[in-house]
Amino acid sequence: MTIQWYPGHMHKAQKEIKQALPDIDLIIEVVDARIPYSSANPVIADLAENKGISKPIIKLMNKTDLADPARTAQWCEYLEKQQGVKALPVTAQSPEQVKKVIGLCRRLAPQRTTKELPVRAMIMGIPNVGKSTIINILSQKTIAKVGNEPAVTQRQQRIDLKEGVILFDTPGILWPKIDNTHSSYRLAISGAIKDTALDYEDVAFYAIEYLLKNYQSLLAEHFKLDEHELASYQSESWMALELIGRLRGCLKAGGRIDMDKVCKILIHEYRAGNIGKITLESPAMIEKELIEVAEM
Ligand code: GDP
Repeated sequence: MTIQWYPGHMHKAQKEIKQALPDIDLIIEVVDARIPYSSANPVIADLAENKGISKPIIKLMNKTDLADPARTAQWCEYLEKQQGVKALPVTAQSPEQVKKVIGLCRRLAPQRTTKELPVRAMIMGIPNVGKSTIINILSQKTIAKVGNEPAVTQRQQRIDLKEGVILFDTPGILWPKIDNTHSSYRLAISGAIKDTALDYEDVAFYAIEYLLKNYQSLLAEHFKLDEHELASYQSESWMALELIGRLRGCLKAGGRIDMDKVCKILIHEYRAGNIGKITLESPAMIEKELIEVAEM
């Protein structure tokens, strides 16, 4: 699967962020807790890797209501120990949880927590991770435009949270950097990539294979399938899609399975969290994939 990549945007965003860095105290990077690696901010990753960022980074792991709690805990530990960032799991469904980031900002920049000298926090994230929703919760106003389609355009904003913290919303749109095919599939499954760019069948085939390997019981329970029968489809995952299609009445003339319809059902029900709390990647998987990419 190929996904369009925008080096021009990336270059511009990197330049703007680098220029702003001296005037900010810390970075809040919003990621999707279901894909903490694949939804990470490419500009920050590049800057941290190549030039070093001396500012504290808070990874706000949003959408934990949709993620596997055990994996979220694993990711938080990994990010803090391996990447030296502060990980804060949150869901927009719990504004109180989100607001904890204000206290964290104040603790990470103790030299600036007064009204005269507030903490200057830059908030960023690739489209659809929930950045606008988070900003709205923190500012208790509806300033940022929230959309369920990725890439809702936003203007740069300076938002005084009046608790000794000022938020600077990053200008422009940060596209995900896709250097790993697995990441592009996971971004597509999660909904971070515009639906018009999707080949549902391709994405759903990847998803069903992953779900059969990692979340077979949830899959069986949600689609009312026999778990033993499902287990026998491990090596022929398309058969599991056919089974779901038959159960959901996705049939074409002549009784053939309407694969396009089944694939859409699988992806949409995953995104809505109906299949269960499911995370699409683990630190161990990413480490293994990065070695494979390096060896290619
Ligand atoms: P942005 O592009 O990063 O600014 O993302 P938005 O704030 O527009 O959110 C994208 C979609 O994700 C919207 O449909 C939000 O309602 C939804 N969303 C945001 N945060 C959460 C969350 O914690 N849990 C769930 N389930 N959905 C969320």
